[in-house]
Amino acid sequence: MNPMYRAAQNNLEEAGRRGMVDRRVMKLLSRPRRVYEFTIPFRRDNGTFQLYEAYRVHYNDALGPPSDGTRFVPTLDIDEVKALALLMTIKHAVAGIPAGGGKGGIKVDTGDLSTWELERLTRSYMRNLLLKGPNGDIPGADIGTSYRTQAWMLDEYEQITMVHSPAAVNDKPFLLGGSLGGEEATGLGVYYVAREAFEDHSIQEGSSVVIQGFGQVGSHLASYLYQKGYRVIGLSDISGGLYSSRGLPIPTLKEYVKEREVIEGFEGGKSLTNEEILSLDCDVLFLAAVQDVITEENARHIKASLIVEGANGPITPGGERILKEREIPIIPDILANVGGAIVCQYERAQGMSGYYWREERVHSSLKEQILTAYERAQIMANEVGCSLRLGAWIGALKRIEEAVMLRGWI
Ligand code: NAD
Repeated sequence: MNPMYRAAQNNLEEAGRRGMVDRRVMKLLSRPRRVYEFTIPFRRDNGTFQLYEAYRVHYNDALGPPSDGTRFVPTLDIDEVKALALLMTIKHAVAGIPAGGGKGGIKVDTGDLSTWELERLTRSYMRNLLLKGPNGDIPGADIGTSYRTQAWMLDEYEQITMVHSPAAVNDKPFLLGGSLGGEEATGLGVYYVAREAFEDHSIQEGSSVVIQGFGQVGSHLASYLYQKGYRVIGLSDISGGLYSSRGLPIPTLKEYVKEREVIEGFEGGKSLTNEEILSLDCDVLFLAAVQDVITEENARHIKASLIVEGANGPITPGGERILKEREIPIIPDILANVGGAIVCQYERAQGMSGYYWREERVHSSLKEQILTAYERAQIMANEVGCSLRLGAWIGALKRIEEAVMLRGWI
């Protein structure tokens, strides 16, 4: 079992051990409901033949149709897809989204494909998905996929069915029925939850923050914090880190990264390594890059008073144990980064109704929904006397349990 699936199963089992969820429901959730594994025969531009492995997992659909991302990465395997589909099942339940957990993808290095090859492969993936539409399975984007691939997926679906059905695919361009506010949704959601947590942990405006990751999540998050007057004293991406005790000039840095793609070489701060960025003395550390960043090896060096997980699984179980001993609170991924999933639900609702929302409505609805999820998780954590992560898991499992019972599955 790969580490991400093991970690997700550990959280599931730990939440189950509190004895608040029916054991039969826990058994149901210990495995995915449906797993599709298939191969895609493919002719490259140069005429050579290639066989790609592809997947789609419906982990659980008691709360609604399976929905969420499509990952095109060279290391993809079925356990990774199962792990992500389980996490989406839980995240949808955490945020009160009427959707189940789905995930899929192709084991492919997109850097090795021409645009024409990527289009043909994406369309072929869609054709092989046992198409189910907006009430059956709604694939969105993830690593290696984008607005572009989602537009091809939607078009393929509509060409086959001969029906315009924008809600059949998520994360597509606005012109084809996408939602405004989708691009910044996850970063904005992290910001809303963090601001609420700042109040709970007496962190003042103007406090110092450090952000690991300056991509889709981290860069929007940095802008919102900067606009509100927080000092982003440290920031890093794959190329390394930057530090300034007065705060980094985020708008200028964003322009720089738009041109150069990475923060390396930017002159508005002192260069540090990624590891040094993590252990900076700051009020809040945001992890918005990749998984397994804080581990048993470096958890003792963290000096932040609060950690917020924008990325999925950035803290290993060993790292979390040490942070708990040191009483450093964590705002967990299944809560903090659920903004993208929330706006995907708005995208589906808009596509089904044909009525499209203004951006302000997307933002205000997102704020209300994510803060409600935060409050619910807090209440559960206080009631049970556990971490916020476990509180969010237990609350989600209780909602899934209720849906399972109402459906008469057990
Ligand atoms: P992205 O690819 O746009 O950006 C990732 C950033 O992390 C980049 O700045 C990259 O340079 C940096 N990075 C990569 N490897 C690094 C390393 N080893 N050390 C330091 N920095 C590194 O990705 P994203 O969409 O911003 O997603 C970031 C994380 O958030 C991922 O874990 C993703 O699964 C999670 N997430 C994203 C969304 C979303 O809507 N994009 C939603 C939920 C969760």
